[in-house]
Amino acid sequence: MFFFILGLFLGSLLNNIALRLEKNEDFLFSRSKCPSCGKILQWYELIPILSFIFQKGKCRVCQNKISFRYPLVEIFTGFWVFLLAFSLKTTLNPIFVVEFLFYLIFFSILFVLALYDLKTYLVDDRLIFFGVLTGILFNLAKKKFLILPRDFSYLLNYLFNFGKFETLITPFFLSSILLLIFLITQGKGIGFGDVKIAFLLGLFLRPGDGLLAIILSSFLGSICGIYFILKEKNLKKPIPFVPFIFLGTLGAILFGESLTKIYFNFML
Ligand SMILES: [Zn+2]
Repeated sequence: MFFFILGLFLGSLLNNIALRLEKNEDFLFSRSKCPSCGKILQWYELIPILSFIFQKGKCRVCQNKISFRYPLVEIFTGFWVFLLAFSLKTTLNPIFVVEFLFYLIFFSILFVLALYDLKTYLVDDRLIFFGVLTGILFNLAKKKFLILPRDFSYLLNYLFNFGKFETLITPFFLSSILLLIFLITQGKGIGFGDVKIAFLLGLFLRPGDGLLAIILSSFLGSICGIYFILKEKNLKKPIPFVPFIFLGTLGAILFGESLTKIYFNFML
């Protein structure tokens, strides 16, 4: 429950960051305001979900409707933060808290990238840069505090074992897979931005887990792609891929262990 509520507030923050990035506004040091009338919002108008319900989905001043995007993003973030804490089995042990915070930043960056992609079909380089910095810090912190790498799909990690150079190789390994897809599909399937995101995944995940995340993302993306082609008969319409990377990565962390077990039981 704590993580769900944490997620609601985080969702509100991340939604605002994404909106401001989309409009190219200063996203760190400006106060939230109503997108219709520009009135600066008070603290009690910024409570996730509750403000929306009490104001009946309208701005207090100009009575314009507030987009459903706000409560949806907040509730969704509540769920994924809860699932993340659940799968990491986060406790109050300081080491776990540090680890959880790093994963929280990692998923938050992916999430904002996904929101941004949905609106603009682009990948924001500022976020990638911030993510890579955080990833490097995370790996330094892991060394310093002796945090062991997380192993979600251990059979795949066992197959793709890069030994002691794992942290260095994994980002290049994962991004080269997407670079290959990018080159084969001539940039029609995915964009170059997705290649950069794969690099980011490699800073936070082990090679097997990252690979599973990419497989799951492509699988989900293909299903949605086929659905849109059948429904709209429009082959040219681009489909943003980052939301699928976000879901695929969350899926790999949640189900990595059971998925690889099922797969290898089936094969052997
Ligand atoms: Zn207003």
